[in-house]
Amino acid sequence: MHELSIVCSIVELASEAAEGRAVRRVTIEIGKLSGVEPEAVAFCFPEVARGTPLEDATLDIREVEAEARCDICGAEFPTPDMLSACPCGSRQFERLRGDELNIKSIEIEEAA
Ligand SMILES: [Zn+2]
Repeated sequence: MHELSIVCSIVELASEAAEGRAVRRVTIEIGKLSGVEPEAVAFCFPEVARGTPLEDATLDIREVEAEARCDICGAEFPTPDMLSACPCGSRQFERLRGDELNIKSIEIEEAA
């Protein structure tokens, strides 16, 4: 399970960004094809965040649906798995989204 190391790097990055202040909320995007389990990330977070500036932070996880654009007909279509094909039958397409793992935003407590 590599979610633990993912959560560790999220906590590390957000802690650095906070520069000693408390982090209120971290929003991350997880693509449906990234192979990362949002539930596992949510599960690991409180454990990893304990004793860091993220201790009281909310982890906001947004799942990103996988989509691709067909090379043949130009249609954009959902690709819930790696074996998806365009409705026109083509299997040649460019993936638009769905395999990302991003920190979208970090909300930091205002300095007192
Ligand atoms: Zn097509």
